[in-house]
Amino acid sequence: MTRSILFEDHSRQQTKFTTCYMCACRCGIKVTLENGKIRFIQGNRNHPVNQGVLCAKGAAGIMKQYSPARLRKPLMRRPGSERGAGDFVEIEWDEALDILTRRLAKIRSTNPAELAFFTGRDQMQALSGLWAQQFGTPNWAAHGGFCSVNMAVAGLYTIGYSFWEFGAPDWDHAKYFLLWGVAEDHSSNPIKIGLDKLKRRGAKFVSINPVRTGYSAIADEWVPIRPGTDGLFALALAHVLIKRGLVDWEFLIKYTNAPWLVVQTPGMPGDGLFARDGDGNPLIWDTPDRRFANGHLPDIAPALLATVDLPDGRRAKTVFSLITERYLDDRYAPEAVAAECGVPAETIHRIALEIAQIAFNETVELPIRWTDMHGRTHDKVVGRPVAMHAMRGISAHSNGFQTCRALHLLQM
Ligand code: SF4
Repeated sequence: MTRSILFEDHSRQQTKFTTCYMCACRCGIKVTLENGKIRFIQGNRNHPVNQGVLCAKGAAGIMKQYSPARLRKPLMRRPGSERGAGDFVEIEWDEALDILTRRLAKIRSTNPAELAFFTGRDQMQALSGLWAQQFGTPNWAAHGGFCSVNMAVAGLYTIGYSFWEFGAPDWDHAKYFLLWGVAEDHSSNPIKIGLDKLKRRGAKFVSINPVRTGYSAIADEWVPIRPGTDGLFALALAHVLIKRGLVDWEFLIKYTNAPWLVVQTPGMPGDGLFARDGDGNPLIWDTPDRRFANGHLPDIAPALLATVDLPDGRRAKTVFSLITERYLDDRYAPEAVAAECGVPAETIHRIALEIAQIAFNETVELPIRWTDMHGRTHDKVVGRPVAMHAMRGISAHSNGFQTCRALHLLQM
């Protein structure tokens, strides 16, 4: 007689809802336990991030609990073995803590800065950083330093917001999408769901990436850029747009500090700082009234391009004047950067014009009420449906911070 094989004992199963942390997406997962042990993991259909999608890495999260290779106890190099030989013995936690306490006490009492302290993606960096500071070492870092910190910091520095971490491309309205240096492990399920939406709607997807795997493989256009030259490519796009006047003048005047005046006194105190009035407000040059005014005031008509002499005689230029002077320089022309970026000049010109075409001719208006920085409410949001997303391929270079700033400049 054939015996039936019991694959699952539903009567002993429990379901727990939690968050996957096999990568930084934080997808919602539904974990089935049987007899108190994880049996399998599924995506949570009701979770806004992944809407039920689970990637292979997420499904393999079960191995975090049960892999025979996982660490169960501290490991110590076997006494007498060669460093690097990989010859370890398991020790108890008490012994490990004793060893560390002795070593750390000695370093702290002599020179705390000799402790180099590195943590992984622990989500406790506020705490581990505080610990390092209390110990007395400035030599501490974490995962983000070789991952996405440049994206986050450049975003906060340039637009006051870190779009890669706290936002997402507008998958529902974008008509042109540029993906810079993003590998498949990053934001995996949300990007897959988003790309599916773009492709179904017929939006153009351009992937800027040295390799054509994963996301790049389904891009409408793949730009095989040389690693580390994305910033130059972005600034060449900005060069083309500024040269042709394809700039959102109204946005720059209303919502950025592009009209603020910057002191120009090379070699003298104050050079490169914002010009301010007696109350510390930034100054702009009010074109209709031909006078200096407080740049924080609403409903002013500041000059975007101007060189003026301040009341104290110092020369000043608007931020946008300085930007145009720098990026209209021939060294940022597509023809000048093509060889270094490995991208033909015609491609750079064409992509810049495609961005402008979508941004200025296919504007979307959404009936969303919002309040601007002056406290005024508006009934609609005017969107330029060009979206971007970028990640480690951009930020994890020695020029990552400036590259990320260049991307944000391009966005504005
Ligand atoms: S993308 Fe995959 S690995 Fe990352 S959180 Fe979601 S399921 Fe987990």
